[in-house]
Amino acid sequence: MGTRRPPDILRKSHAHSEGDRRARGKRELHEELEQAASSGDMPGLLIDLDGVVYRGDEAIPGAADTIRWLDDAGLAYLFVTNTTSRPREALVEKLGGFGIAVGVDAIQAPPDAAAARLGSDGARRLLLAVPVATAEVFSGFETLTLDDAIARQAEGGDVAVDAVVVGDIGADWDFARLNAAFKCLMREPRPKLVALGMTRYWHASDGLRLDTAPFVMALSHASGVEPLVLGKPAEAFFDAAIGRLGVAAGNAWMIGDDIRADVGGAQAAGLRGILVRTGKFRPGDVELGIDPELVIDSLADLPDAWPPGAS
Ligand SMILES: [Mg+2]
Repeated sequence: MGTRRPPDILRKSHAHSEGDRRARGKRELHEELEQAASSGDMPGLLIDLDGVVYRGDEAIPGAADTIRWLDDAGLAYLFVTNTTSRPREALVEKLGGFGIAVGVDAIQAPPDAAAARLGSDGARRLLLAVPVATAEVFSGFETLTLDDAIARQAEGGDVAVDAVVVGDIGADWDFARLNAAFKCLMREPRPKLVALGMTRYWHASDGLRLDTAPFVMALSHASGVEPLVLGKPAEAFFDAAIGRLGVAAGNAWMIGDDIRADVGGAQAAGLRGILVRTGKFRPGDVELGIDPELVIDSLADLPDAWPPGAS
């Protein structure tokens, strides 16, 4: 006879023993974490959002359970995303709709990573080439818009800033604004050129449209200032994330669906990478010469695979 559905009583007792196993696992994990904390070896996890926790407007099944497991286990984690089209508040709301209750501080996106990095570098005055909603993230600094810079330069004034921050302002770019940013970058001492991601182009409803990278590259090429990129796969983005978690790179794991930006980027920054087979994952990804330390079907499988490397 083929496989039969077990009677309810057996399924319940199976569920019970599964619960016991999980409870035991949790106790052991707590002991491990206490030991790790006392030795300064706390592990931390960086978790990509799109393709790992949700895909578009659909939650990845079991993702919310894994986040609950992380909370119960006391494991430090931070959601990391390259999304700049929606503020973190909107992502918090979206996660809430999937049963994941977190605050904005649980998410790192390029603008706040840039603000944190510039703050720790002692920057005070910024020229912002970013959308209005993004500018709010930099409210702790003295900020100038491109049009402020144009006005001051027209009066013959010199515009001294510590950094020029460039995001996707699309059709708001024109020659005068691009040239104003360039002139700021040419002033000594040279400011930093901060890029909120390096996407080359995107599919708008009316066709392909230039994104952030071409404008950053134009400014960098003309001024000779190398861009500091605050988005995956750039090292500065991962550094900002583990700095926020307070864990060392060697104890940090990045979980993502993009083998290059998530896994490859994290490994280049000294972290370890976990690839999930959801989102943009394609079977051929594992033959691209990047070896994740762990590959799992989905975020739902993390509790059973943790800690990676243990049998
Ligand atoms: Mg992703």
